[in-house]
Amino acid sequence: MTFEEMCLDTRIMRAVTEMGFEQPSPIQSQSIPIAMEGRDLIGQAQTGTGKTASFGIPLLQRINPKDRHLQALVLCPTRELAIQSAGEVRKLAKFMHGIKVLPIYGGQDISKQIRSLKGGVQIIIGTPGRVMDHMRRHTLKMETVDMIVLDEADEMLNMGFREDIETILDKLPIERQTMLFSATMPKPIMEIAHNYLHNPEIVRVVKKELTVPKIEQYYYEVNLRKKNEVLSRLLDMYDPELSLVFCNTKRKVDELVADLKGRGYFAEGLHGDMKQSQRDRVMNGFRNGRTDILVATDVAARGIDVDDVEAVFNYDVPQDDEYYVHRIGRTGRAGRTGRAFTLVVGKEIYKLKDIQRYCKTKVRRQPIPSADDVTAIKSEKLLEQAGDLIAGENLGHTIDLLEEYLDNSEYSAIEMAAALLTMQMGDGTSVNLPKEEFGDTGAEPGMVRMFMNIGKKDRVRIGDILGAVAGESGMEGDLVGTIDMYDNFSFVEVPEEYAGAVLDAMNHSKIKGRKVNMEPANKR
Ligand code: ADP
Ligand code: MG
Repeated sequence: MTFEEMCLDTRIMRAVTEMGFEQPSPIQSQSIPIAMEGRDLIGQAQTGTGKTASFGIPLLQRINPKDRHLQALVLCPTRELAIQSAGEVRKLAKFMHGIKVLPIYGGQDISKQIRSLKGGVQIIIGTPGRVMDHMRRHTLKMETVDMIVLDEADEMLNMGFREDIETILDKLPIERQTMLFSATMPKPIMEIAHNYLHNPEIVRVVKKELTVPKIEQYYYEVNLRKKNEVLSRLLDMYDPELSLVFCNTKRKVDELVADLKGRGYFAEGLHGDMKQSQRDRVMNGFRNGRTDILVATDVAARGIDVDDVEAVFNYDVPQDDEYYVHRIGRTGRAGRTGRAFTLVVGKEIYKLKDIQRYCKTKVRRQPIPSADDVTAIKSEKLLEQAGDLIAGENLGHTIDLLEEYLDNSEYSAIEMAAALLTMQMGDGTSVNLPKEEFGDTGAEPGMVRMFMNIGKKDRVRIGDILGAVAGESGMEGDLVGTIDMYDNFSFVEVPEEYAGAVLDAMNHSKIKGRKVNMEPANKR
C-alpha cells in the first residue's frame, strides 16, 4: 500500500510528504491499515524500521481534535524515546490544528508538566514511571483514553516496568484499542498481550535470507553536520567515474544534490516526485557521462537500469536490510571491483549491526580520510596522467618554453612542478577536515588527549595501552602520541581524525580483563 492509500486524512498525507517519506516501510504498510480499523495489534520489527509512524498515523487519524480530553497514551522506555517519538508525531500532526502531543518523563519538573496537561492534551507519550506518578496525583485522567500503545515493549520489560505497565493498563477503559510494538517477543510480552489485548492481529516483519554480493563494504562514523563534507571527501579520494548515493527521503535527495552542486560536483537527483521527462533527462545525463553522481531514494533507484556503478554511498543507513542489499548490489557487477560506503550517525550503528547480522556480511569501519590522504591520492592520479602525457605526446615545445623560463628565474624545476601540481589540484589541498569537536584537551596541535580509567595499578604497561589503542581502532601504532601513566589512570594522545574511532573502539574493549572507560581529557 502507498501512503496515499493509507493516509485517509489528507492533512496527514501532506505531513508525510513534507517529511519526505517516499514509501511506507514494511512494518508501516502492514500495520497501519489494521490499526486504522481500530483493531488491537502486535507489531514486531527491528529498531529503525519506522514503528513510530506505524502507530502515529493511525492515532492521529482516530483522534477527535475538537475533544480536549486525553485520548491516546503511548508508553515508551526512556525519556529520549518519549521526546523523539513526540517530535515525530508532532511532525505528522503538523497540518492538523488543535492536536496537542506532550511527552512526559521523569527528571522533568512535574509542576511544569501539570501546567501543560491542564491546557488539554490528547496524546501523551511518556515513561511508565512518570505516567503512574500523574495517575496517582490525578493529573492524568485515564477514563477517556481509547487508544494505548506500548512502544518498545521488550525494552520496557527489561527496565523493570512490567508492574507499572500492568497497573496502567488496568486503569484504562475496557473499550479501547491496544497496540504493542516490540523488536523481540519474549514470553512475558506474549503474556501481557494475552492478558490485555483483544483478539490482536500479529504483524511480523520477517527477515528473508539475503545474499550480499562480494564487494568491499566500509562505514564511517560521522557527525550529523559533517555528513556532506565526509561524502565529498570520499568522492574526492576514490574519484569514482559513476557513483550512486542513496538517501532515505526525497527531501534529503534535493538538499544533498544542491549541496554537491555547490561544491562543484556533477550531481543530479532522482526521486518519486519528479516527472517522467525530468527523470529521463537525469538518466540520460548519467549514461552519457554528463552526470557523475546520481543521488536517489530507494524507490526511484528501483526503476532505473544503472547497474554498473563504481561506488555506492549510503548517505543514510537504509531503513530495511533488504534495501541495503539492493543498494550495494548496484556496484561490483560483471567482475568489476565495487565499493560500498555507509555513513553512520550515532545510534544508527546498531541498525548497521543488525544489517550485518541479517545479511551475514561484514562492513568494515574506516577512519574518515584526512585532508592529507585526499591530497596524496589526488596528486598521485594527476602525476600518473602527466606520466601518460609524457609517454604519449611530443612535449618538446613546452619543454623549450619551460627551460627558457627557468634559466631566467630563481626557481628550480622541482619547485615549478610542485607549484603547477598545486594549481592543477585546485582546492583539493585545502579540504576542510571534519574534525570532531573535542575542544582543547591540552594535547599537541592535531592531537586529542584522552583520559582512561586504566593505570599502573592494573599491572598494565605502556605497550599494552599502545597495542590496545592501535589494535582496537585500526590505526597505525606509530600515530599514537604521548602516553602518560599514573597509578589509577592514564592519558593517551591520538590524532584528531582518529579520535572518534579510538573512543568508540576503546569504550567497547578491555585491557587485561578490565573494562575500559575512555573520554577526551579536560585541559590541564
Ligand atoms: P523505530 O521506532 O522502528 O526504531 P522510527 O519510527 O524511530 O523507527 O524511525 C526511524 C527513522 O526513520 C526516523 O528518522 C523516521 O523519521 C524515519 N522514517 C520512518 N518511516 C519512514 C519512511 N517511510 N521513509 C523514510 N523514512 C522514514
Ligand atoms: Mg521506536
